[in-house]
Amino acid sequence: MLYFIILTQICNLNCIYCGNTPDPSIEPVDITYTINDLKNFLDNDPDAMIAFYGGEPLLRMELMKRIMDEIKAKKYILQTNGLLLKKLETRYLKRFDTILVSIDGREEVNDYYRGKGTYRRVIENVKDIRERGFRGDLIARMAVSGKTDIFEDVKHLLNVGDPWFDHVHWQLDVMWDYPPHQRYDNFDEWVVKYNAGITRLINYWIDTMKMDGKVLGIVPFLGIMKTLLYNEKVELRCGAGINAFAITTSGRILACPVAPEFEWNRLGNIFKNKPFDVVRKVMVGEPCTTCEIRHICGGRCLFANKTKLWGEEGFRKVCGTVKHLVRELQRVKGEIEKLIKLGVVEKEDFNYPKYNNTTEIIP
Ligand code: SF4
Ligand code: SF4
Repeated sequence: MLYFIILTQICNLNCIYCGNTPDPSIEPVDITYTINDLKNFLDNDPDAMIAFYGGEPLLRMELMKRIMDEIKAKKYILQTNGLLLKKLETRYLKRFDTILVSIDGREEVNDYYRGKGTYRRVIENVKDIRERGFRGDLIARMAVSGKTDIFEDVKHLLNVGDPWFDHVHWQLDVMWDYPPHQRYDNFDEWVVKYNAGITRLINYWIDTMKMDGKVLGIVPFLGIMKTLLYNEKVELRCGAGINAFAITTSGRILACPVAPEFEWNRLGNIFKNKPFDVVRKVMVGEPCTTCEIRHICGGRCLFANKTKLWGEEGFRKVCGTVKHLVRELQRVKGEIEKLIKLGVVEKEDFNYPKYNNTTEIIP
C-alpha cells in the first residue's frame, strides 16, 4: 500500500489556493514519533511504498534521507514544490521512482498562483535534476484555478525543456474552501471554457498520436483511457482509505492526507494499529455510490465527498467536468483502438499509472 509520510507541516511558499495553515493544536508542526516507530509499523506491509509529503518535505531533507536509509520501501515518491531540489544529493535523487513537482503551467499563470519568480526557480531545478541523471517519472503537478487555460498550460508543460516532464497531472481548485468559487470571476463561465479546453486538448492528444506515433503523458487522459481500453472497474483512484494512507506528524493514520482535523478521516495510529486494520474504514457515499459513471470515475475525491464544502449544487457542477471529460474520452476510444490495430501506438502506452503514484487521475 501507499503511505504519505508528512515530514513537516510548514512550507516555504504561500500559494493563493492552498489550505496549508499548520495548526499545532491539531497536529504538531514536526514529526514527534521516532523512525523506529514508523519502521515497526511499515514492517507489517511487505509492499509499502513511501511518498514524502508536507508542507514541503524537502524542508526536512535530513530526516527524509534517514528514513530512506532505514526503511526499505518498494517505491519512493516525492511530492515537492521544487524549490529545494537542487540541494538533494544525487545518490538520493536517483532512488526516487517518481517525483511530482508543483508547477501550474505558463510562467505568468504559475507566478500568479504560487508567487513571483517561482516558475524560473522550479524550472532551473527540474533541468538540474535531469542533468544529474534523474531518469524516474517526473510529473508536473498543476493546480488548476480561475486564471488557467487548460489547453495552453498543459501543452506548455508537455513541451518545456527537451521535454523534461514525462507526465502532466492536474487537480481542480474546487471544493477545498468555503465560501465557494473565491478564485473564479464567474465559475459557471469558467467551467464552460474549461470543458472546451479539455475537448481541444483531447483532439491535440489524438493528433499527436496520428502524426508522431506518440502518446503524450497527460495523466487524466491516460488513466481514464486505460480504464476504457482494459474494461476496468475502478474504485476511488487516489486510494484514500483503500490502499493509500497518510501518517501525520504525531503518528496518526489518515485516509486522506489533507484533512487531519476531520473525525471521519482519522483511522488509528502507528503505535497501536497495523496497516491492514485501517483498510476500508471510510468510503465515498452518495451521490458517488449511485452515479452512472462511478465505475469509471471512482468517486473523484473522498474529502470532497465527505465535506461537500460547495454544497450539493457545487458538487454537481464539478461532476459536470468529470462527465464531460469521460464522455470526450469515450468519443475517441474507437479512434485509439484503430491506431493500436494499425500499430501506430501500443495498448501498453495507455497502461498508466502502473502503481498508485499519488496522481488521483480524476482532476
Ligand atoms: S462523477 Fe461525481 S458523482 Fe459520479 S462518481 Fe465521480 S465524483 Fe461521484
Ligand atoms: S483526491 Fe481527495 S481524498 Fe484523495 S487524496 Fe486527494 S484530497 Fe484526499
